[in-house]
Amino acid sequence: MLARVVTFAIEGVQATRVEVEADIRPGLPAFNIVGLADKGVREARERVRSALANCGFEFPQKRITVNLAPAYLRKIGPCFDLPLALAVLVAAGQLESERLEGCAAVGELSLTGELRPARGALAFAEGLVTERLDRLVLPSSSAGEAALVPGVAVVGVCDLREAVDVLRGRATASAPSDVAVESGAIAQEQLDLGDVRGHSALVPAFEAAAAGGHNLYLHGPPGTGKTMLARRLSTLLPPLSPSEAIEVTKIHSVAGLHHGQGLMSSRPFRAPHHTVSAAGLVGGGAPPMPGETTLAHHGVLFLDELSEFSRASLEALRQPLEDGRVTIVRGQQSTTFPSRCMLVAASNPCSCGHGGRHCCCSGADLARHRRKLSGPLLDRIDIAIAVQRPSARSLAQDSCPASADVREGVVLARQRQERRYARFGVFCNAQAPAALLRDCVDASPAALKLLSQLHDAHCLSARGHSRVLRVARTVADLQDSDKVHREHVLAAAALRFEANSPQAVAA
Ligand SMILES: [Zn+2]
Repeated sequence: MLARVVTFAIEGVQATRVEVEADIRPGLPAFNIVGLADKGVREARERVRSALANCGFEFPQKRITVNLAPAYLRKIGPCFDLPLALAVLVAAGQLESERLEGCAAVGELSLTGELRPARGALAFAEGLVTERLDRLVLPSSSAGEAALVPGVAVVGVCDLREAVDVLRGRATASAPSDVAVESGAIAQEQLDLGDVRGHSALVPAFEAAAAGGHNLYLHGPPGTGKTMLARRLSTLLPPLSPSEAIEVTKIHSVAGLHHGQGLMSSRPFRAPHHTVSAAGLVGGGAPPMPGETTLAHHGVLFLDELSEFSRASLEALRQPLEDGRVTIVRGQQSTTFPSRCMLVAASNPCSCGHGGRHCCCSGADLARHRRKLSGPLLDRIDIAIAVQRPSARSLAQDSCPASADVREGVVLARQRQERRYARFGVFCNAQAPAALLRDCVDASPAALKLLSQLHDAHCLSARGHSRVLRVARTVADLQDSDKVHREHVLAAAALRFEANSPQAVAA
């Protein structure tokens, strides 16, 4: 008898429908799995055999063939155990096939038949909605996470025995526990711009970066507070929308960094060390796993000591920063990960860090440092600011506004941008393509005249030109102005041509 059970394979961060077909025929006892299954899936044979026996079922002593369709899709990982076991039970006549109608199953079995937590439960639940199926049977430890997707009937079970009993209607699945907000949110909330002293002059730049989603470059000597400031940028961003929160949680769940802790409520902040490989930064490996740019999706990616990152890593960042997604091609399969994050890069003025009079770098060191920084990456940065060591007086007297106060203005500016770009699938000025920006920016003649003067004076590239216009649009949005005026362009130019910035030279 032929049995068919629906399950899902994770491709990138999306679930794709896979059908597990099992066929049992008379012959010498054998258990074969075909359909581009990797080693981990083929090992399921031993787990399924033991789990069936230990849950009181009979393992058929016949010739069993299991096919995972579609055959072109590579199947990876242990989540096929439960659908495999159910397919064998149906094929052996120990479970009625109609019990599995409209149902999908995922889960890794232990030898005793217990189910282990599943990576990517949210992605599976979304797959269920896409495929218009009714119920998702999965490990009870992952049921809460899957239930975050609206309209999904989640059946959480502890072991194979319970799965079969629930499918037969002999037992009811326990309701998924209420979803708690992750505790990491509190840790992030404890950081506040209000704690920072001596840097209030930089607040407008941070406010503009957060409001327009602009990539930011901080340069200055070590110990001036660049890292401290960068960490607080994510506290200025608007709260995650429900759909963004689901997307962020799904990515972290697929990456194995988030298990059944409910919805992630704070924007991600990722700060990879400068020794990170290109694959670690943008994703890769077999199977392809999300990299730092994807883990920072809808949040902030912070690269401290930018000049210390390898050339290959920085080059790899260009596509994800420009397109908001990374495509990894491996063999015949290509996988796409979302990577719409804000980049915050920081660097010292030179390799020794002192810069200017106290610098002890050789000429070659200085040249190497400059080469790294003037690379194509800086061309994707809208705002560059110098962070100076605060004086003793300003440390005592000058404090920054609280994050919540700055965030209020940022949220309003973001709402203006969302309204403007609603028809184009763009959410902030930084994401708007140059052509769209030209159409929507609504600049006054005086503003355009100043821009062309700047263009000539600073030998702006076409890209540099639209970057100034983009930031000017954000400054106008922060001031609740429909039109971009001359003063907005001036403010934007000041944020880009900071004194001694390599950016000013590169532009
Ligand atoms: Zn130096």
